[in-house]
Amino acid sequence: MESNQSTPMLRQYHELKQKHPGTLLFFRCGDFYEMFYDDAVTGARELEITLTARNKERGNAVPMAGVPHHSAANHIAKLIKKGYRVAVCEQIEEPIAGAAGKKLIRREISRIITPGTAIDEQLLETKDSTYLAALVGGGDSWGAAFLELSTGEFKTTECTGKDAFKTLTADIESFAPREILFPESLAFVIKETFANSQNNLLTDARLDTASNEQSNVVNFPVKSTNQNGLTATLTPLDDWLFLDDYCEALLKNHFGVLDLAGFGLKDKTQAVRAAGACLRYVQETQRASASHIADLDYFEANEFMVLDQVTLRNLELVESQTGDKRRSLLGVIDSTVTSMGSRLLKSWLLRPSIRRGEIEARLSAVDELCDSMLRERLRVLLKEVADLERLIGRLNMNTATARDLLALRRSLAQIPNVRQTLAEAGSSLLQVLQENLHELPDIRNLIQTAIGENPPLNLADGGTIRDGFNNELDELRGLSRDAKQTIAAFEEEEKKRSGIATLRVKFNGVFGYFIEISKSNLSRVPADYERRQTLVNAERYTTPQLKEWERKILGAEERILELETEIFQTVRTQVAAETKNLQTTARALATLDALASLSENSCRRNYVRPKLHDGDEIEVKDGRHAVVEVFLNQPFVPNDLYLNNSTDRLLIITGPNMGGKSTSLRQVAIIQILAQIGSFVPAQAARLPIVDRVWTRVGASDDLASGRSTFMVEMTETAAILHNATPKSLVLLDEIGRGTSTFDGLSIAWAVAEYLHDAPEHHAKTMFATHYHELTELAERLPGAQNYQITAAEKNGEVVFLHKLERGKAEQSYGIAVAQIAGLPRTVLNRAREVLERLERYEIDVFADVVENKTATADNQVTSKDAHEANGLGAAVRRAARGKMAMQATLFQSVNDSLIDEIRQTRIEDLSPEAMRKFILDLQKKIV
Ligand code: ATP
Repeated sequence: MESNQSTPMLRQYHELKQKHPGTLLFFRCGDFYEMFYDDAVTGARELEITLTARNKERGNAVPMAGVPHHSAANHIAKLIKKGYRVAVCEQIEEPIAGAAGKKLIRREISRIITPGTAIDEQLLETKDSTYLAALVGGGDSWGAAFLELSTGEFKTTECTGKDAFKTLTADIESFAPREILFPESLAFVIKETFANSQNNLLTDARLDTASNEQSNVVNFPVKSTNQNGLTATLTPLDDWLFLDDYCEALLKNHFGVLDLAGFGLKDKTQAVRAAGACLRYVQETQRASASHIADLDYFEANEFMVLDQVTLRNLELVESQTGDKRRSLLGVIDSTVTSMGSRLLKSWLLRPSIRRGEIEARLSAVDELCDSMLRERLRVLLKEVADLERLIGRLNMNTATARDLLALRRSLAQIPNVRQTLAEAGSSLLQVLQENLHELPDIRNLIQTAIGENPPLNLADGGTIRDGFNNELDELRGLSRDAKQTIAAFEEEEKKRSGIATLRVKFNGVFGYFIEISKSNLSRVPADYERRQTLVNAERYTTPQLKEWERKILGAEERILELETEIFQTVRTQVAAETKNLQTTARALATLDALASLSENSCRRNYVRPKLHDGDEIEVKDGRHAVVEVFLNQPFVPNDLYLNNSTDRLLIITGPNMGGKSTSLRQVAIIQILAQIGSFVPAQAARLPIVDRVWTRVGASDDLASGRSTFMVEMTETAAILHNATPKSLVLLDEIGRGTSTFDGLSIAWAVAEYLHDAPEHHAKTMFATHYHELTELAERLPGAQNYQITAAEKNGEVVFLHKLERGKAEQSYGIAVAQIAGLPRTVLNRAREVLERLERYEIDVFADVVENKTATADNQVTSKDAHEANGLGAAVRRAARGKMAMQATLFQSVNDSLIDEIRQTRIEDLSPEAMRKFILDLQKKIV
């Protein structure tokens, strides 16, 4: 691409570009950031700015697109949100004005902004964490790390065994990172897992562009969405950046330790590799030490309840299916008063605990905070607390402003009162949190004495440092002030001396101080004035004395700014030295806020403290759906529910459309999740075990963006459940099989239910909502299965939903009644009733036959061995489904066969032409 005719500037551009493949290079030229070549084409397209060309006249036009420097932040933010990485290149020396021969200005990359390492306010959501992840490993051994740069939160994990990769993938989904780093050699595996088929095309195209240009490092922005809906930029890095020794040394150096064992990382090679790669990437992109990353937390992959993206979406935990955050579980339970508290609560919800001790500790704290006086006092104080976690991040990356420091001081000022409020706390968690709150009086004092009450936004505007903090600064300010007063007095004197009442001494950036006299008074200008500038209506002058004062003032002001900057940086460094204590304090405040919020919600909405136990029973009395009950216009009908791992491990739930089957399923999962984050639950009473994972397959939705059909999505998700559910899991299946033909769907539903019931290592507690009433028969046959129905009644031909969950099976789906409510034309409804009636007559017999045959055939028995042999759906499930496929046409065939019999049995020769005509018309109507 580089041509011999490249100008020195373009050669400089190429050099920088080569060092930073995979980024869009923002190249500073005067007041603009310019992009060249392919970057310009991409930038112009994504930012909707004009694509121009340089060197057009010389016949080797270079595509170019630029943005003004003052609006660059917005443009960069736009690109980052789209998944790109941007390298910002600055001029590091001033151009010499009017210099002949135009010397090439030196330029350097000041920082690289990527989706996972963005810390600018425009790119961060106050209530969301922005994670960078790294994934590394192979075979049965994998590691992953997660870094939240804005706050310094840093976690790493590793996993071994046959399901290691899958387990870590679920972890990655729960953190929903914006960017995933991985060794280049794993590109294929990563693409398979984190990019769906359509993205792959895009990936290849973009990667080619990058590698053709300068590098064989596949390193171009790719924002990919995987099959579960996780969207992230995939960033391949050179393999050597993940080398054990290199990563270990990097981490030791950063944390200033001789051994990583203190972090729980002894022999955790994969976790060390992943963490090392994350840290190195951040240091490289930020060009800063990021010393607020003060700790590295090793966790085991099974320390949390796993909620994958599918479940998060199905249960609408953080946003509704339509993307509305308010109508989600988090939207309902989040009454936090700080952004830190809100982010923490969200992280609890995404990764509920499975440690009973931890859960009980939170529950006890929530319980104690139900004392409304205590809670309110605490919340009033917390409201005054700034986002300390991110503020500490900015402190350590040298971007914190004077206003940040004041916010820190105000926040710290609340600590003594918060500590006092908690002084009498009985719960052990509240006591620990109280102890973790550091008052840091020295820091408060320092900020108080150093920083003025109303500092300007920019340090360069002056006035940040308070009078009295630094002697030299005070003197300079005095000098500047005196000189200004002298100038004011000089103006008065000159007015008198010249007799010109309108004479003014003014100042501007170009000419400094000058005396301005209007044209009409020019005759009276004193002889010692030197003319500086002529305007339309006035002349401007100076005097030697004025020049001398100007020199003093400007010199002092320049030095004042220098000094203020120096002092501010010293203060910032002194405050940053307390990072560790500040972080502990911030974490404690966030935790208090999250707990108080859970308590607030529990009291406001009448939740009850769940009783956790080590057994397997889920027993809920008068449970409610935490979100539906809030947005319903009528009273929510509470429901009881009982599940265990023996007699009641598979609940088949039937009932009318719109009856509340899905709601009752989700309600149980939400109650279980709420309990495991340490919240009270919407019920009158709840006895709950600890669940390791909630699996859901709820509703059928096309994933057109990824090119997968409804049924394919449904089966992929079902396959994941069948392979991975454990007896400690809770599985919700809502209308499995709905996406295909009736008999295929029914057969699959039947076999899936049987499998979850029978397979010893997978028999999770399962709730199965279905319109296949045939499945209720299954519940009668299997010892661990129970039938439940959602009740409805028919009144004057119209269905009345009672929303009550009871033991027993529903007789019908009232589908046509619901269709009527939905406004289907009367003729269609009548015809549907007719067809239904006929189908029902035949269906019962046919299905009963088939099921009898199936359960009697040894070959069709579902065993766990079959499932392990299979890819995708278990082999047994597929075989059972195939067995039924042949019957698909049978139902309709049976109806039509009866018509053939009717024709056979009719003596055609006895019919009159009129009777014959009627006979044929009748037959026509009966054909289905
Ligand atoms: P379908 O079979 O058509 O998918 P469904 O049986 O799964 O329907 P849901 O989607 O759970 O029904 O519920 C339909 C609506 O009924 C809900 O949106 C809610 O408004 C209302 N509803 C559900 N459960 C209750 C309840 N327990 N009390 C009051 N209203 C409820």
